[in-house]
Amino acid sequence: MSNLIFSPTLSLNLSGTARSDQDLIIIGGGPAGLTAAIYAARANVNPLVLVGEVAGGQAATTHEIENYPGFPEGIGGSALGQRLQAQAERFGARVQLDFATEVDFKRYPFMVKTPLQSYTARAVIISTGSSPRKLGVPGEERFRARGVSYCATCDGYFFKDKEVIVVGGGNSALDESLFLTRLVSKITILHRREQLRADPILQQRALENPKIEFRWNTVVEEILGDTEARAVRVRNLKTDQVETIETGGVFIYIGHTPNTRLFEEQLALDQAGYIITDRRQHTSVPGVFAAGDVQDPIFRQIATAVGTGSAAAIEAVHFLDEQAAHIV
Ligand code: NAP
Repeated sequence: MSNLIFSPTLSLNLSGTARSDQDLIIIGGGPAGLTAAIYAARANVNPLVLVGEVAGGQAATTHEIENYPGFPEGIGGSALGQRLQAQAERFGARVQLDFATEVDFKRYPFMVKTPLQSYTARAVIISTGSSPRKLGVPGEERFRARGVSYCATCDGYFFKDKEVIVVGGGNSALDESLFLTRLVSKITILHRREQLRADPILQQRALENPKIEFRWNTVVEEILGDTEARAVRVRNLKTDQVETIETGGVFIYIGHTPNTRLFEEQLALDQAGYIITDRRQHTSVPGVFAAGDVQDPIFRQIATAVGTGSAAAIEAVHFLDEQAAHIV
């Protein structure tokens, strides 16, 4: 816990008699949050899980997951989300399509608000994941959902038989490009370097795919269009040459930023905004735990998210047990 910051204003009354209306609230319903829910529910804690729009988180927007252990044929992202939810509910977790809009971890029991409800909780697990990073170029916001997309699995069908552009050189860019080859006529991947970051197996598949073309050392400067995106203006970083490429759509896969805005004034975050946790998934506030991508700037795998989700739940249950022992 050496690098954790404890707020001097935090005063937890762990031995007091304050009662909360929830024992455990899990904020976020991706693989980390739903795994935490399975573990907590099997320990008879019956957590409330605020999953956002859909159970499964970012994994649910992935068309095919090939590297999650136990599924030798692969599994669809949304199918995995549904299975995790069903497994959590089987043991008594209450999964709600709802968002946390405000939290207060400086009082105890903690407070968690959603648009329609205010809860108190004796323990909280945060598993809000991360969101696609934006390019930040002119036209990106204007043409969002009008030719600019961050999810090929969700939107790919709208681009059937078109030529599209994918930006990025990581696993997501290549994975989703390979998915798009089923639908579109051609994909041009724009990467800012000459080397891909993606795993070798994906690199090989993409480089060998006749529908995929790479443009190296290339960055997008602007997305152009009328009612929809129609072209991108790009710059070659080696030659400084600027060019406009016509396109039927632009898919952006340039990494992720953690969904921690809600916790900025509440928990210790690192410079990139990830929640700082110790090896037991404790955050800087006792009783608040974090799991999955929201606290992981390194691995960001479903398998690692699931691991930290189970650890966070085990620790949260210990915390609740210790607290109950104090109250008795
Ligand atoms: P990532 O691995 O961080 O890759 C981001 C890519 O976008 C990099 O190629 C990066 O270029 C490029 N980039 C970043 N900022 C940019 C900018 N402003 N302009 C242009 N290009 C930019 O992110 P990801 O692909 O979303 O993957 C996130 C995590 O999920 C990773 O850990 C990945 O392994 C995992 N993942 C795994 C799978 C799988 O196993 N099948 C599938 C999807 C995701 P540089 O290379 O030059 O930095």
